[in-house]
Amino acid sequence: MNRYPKRDDLRAMSGYHSPQVSVKVRLNTNESPIAPPAEFLQALAAAVGDVRWNRYPDRAALELRTAIGALHGVGADNIFVGNGSNEVLQAVLLAYSGAGRTVATFEPTYQLHAHIARITGATVVSGRRDANFMLQADEVQRVLSTHAPHVTFLCSPNNPTGMAEDPALIQSTIDNAPGIVVVDEAYAQFSPHTALSYINEDSRVAVSRTFSKTWSMAAARLGYVVGPNWMIEDLEVVTLPYHLDALKQRAGIIALQFLQHMEHGVQAVVAERERLIAAMQTMPLTVWPSQANFILFRPNKAAAAGNSANAVWQALLDGGVLVRDCSSWDGLDNCLRVTVGTASENDAFLVALRSALSARD
Ligand code: PMP
Repeated sequence: MNRYPKRDDLRAMSGYHSPQVSVKVRLNTNESPIAPPAEFLQALAAAVGDVRWNRYPDRAALELRTAIGALHGVGADNIFVGNGSNEVLQAVLLAYSGAGRTVATFEPTYQLHAHIARITGATVVSGRRDANFMLQADEVQRVLSTHAPHVTFLCSPNNPTGMAEDPALIQSTIDNAPGIVVVDEAYAQFSPHTALSYINEDSRVAVSRTFSKTWSMAAARLGYVVGPNWMIEDLEVVTLPYHLDALKQRAGIIALQFLQHMEHGVQAVVAERERLIAAMQTMPLTVWPSQANFILFRPNKAAAAGNSANAVWQALLDGGVLVRDCSSWDGLDNCLRVTVGTASENDAFLVALRSALSARD
């Protein structure tokens, strides 16, 4: 092998992966458990024939951005679209972080924020959540005044801990941050809060959203940011030409026509989430509250008879259910995360979990 060394600052890094094990019940990556409606598929199939496949797509994705803007009561010039919200976050970090700049996160949180920031060459500084995984204003203030970050990330609801940030905390972070504030709202539809109302031309706020969770379109890879127009222009500078293919643009426009279907799906997931939490609270677990489509939990040491989250994770997998093992993440000792699935998937999870825990009594 004649490998060539990658950048020095990337040496210690590995890629970000969630294992894609072939298993009956997959509750590890927070997708929607509900498929898009048949009408969506019919319209998409028709759209395949309408695409001019020999031509590049609309580089500005104007029709899609206009449709997304209409959903939020803003214009296309306040919307930037990308291949999943991860790519959108990458664009924000390419534009505003990079070598010599600083990015703040509050751990534990979505690992990709720090990961992408480091790939751009930025220095990552981390604040901490409190013992209940809530973010406190004095901790935010400490990080802002010590490090003056160029980009500050909030994640609301926070992955993997589950709760939305207090609106007063979001407001004070925006008021006090010296740079850009990104509010990652991948799970906002499952929660009562959104930071969208903080966006105006004088604000330095970007709210990111995704089609992967509530719009039942994780396979398509589509996400967007809502922000002031000057920011959208900056993001266009760092984006490759024609980055969003023509069919995906159509898929997004068509999906937006099924708003009701999405909203029903969200209600169903929220109801299932509460049912799961209630059932899990009867088991020897610590279960954190959630305003998202997943639940963080930790097997009690006594009940697990010294067995780790890894052992429970394996027992669940042996029972045909894949959840996310978060136990190696900073601040999440012995924690697992389960995505809310369909009622029958959730039933299968509860059965497997009960049996995994009782095997360890
Ligand atoms: N933000 C958060 C908080 C997430 O949990 C995820 C998905 N795991 C994403 C962004 C990325 O979603 P996507 O790239 O599928 O839009």
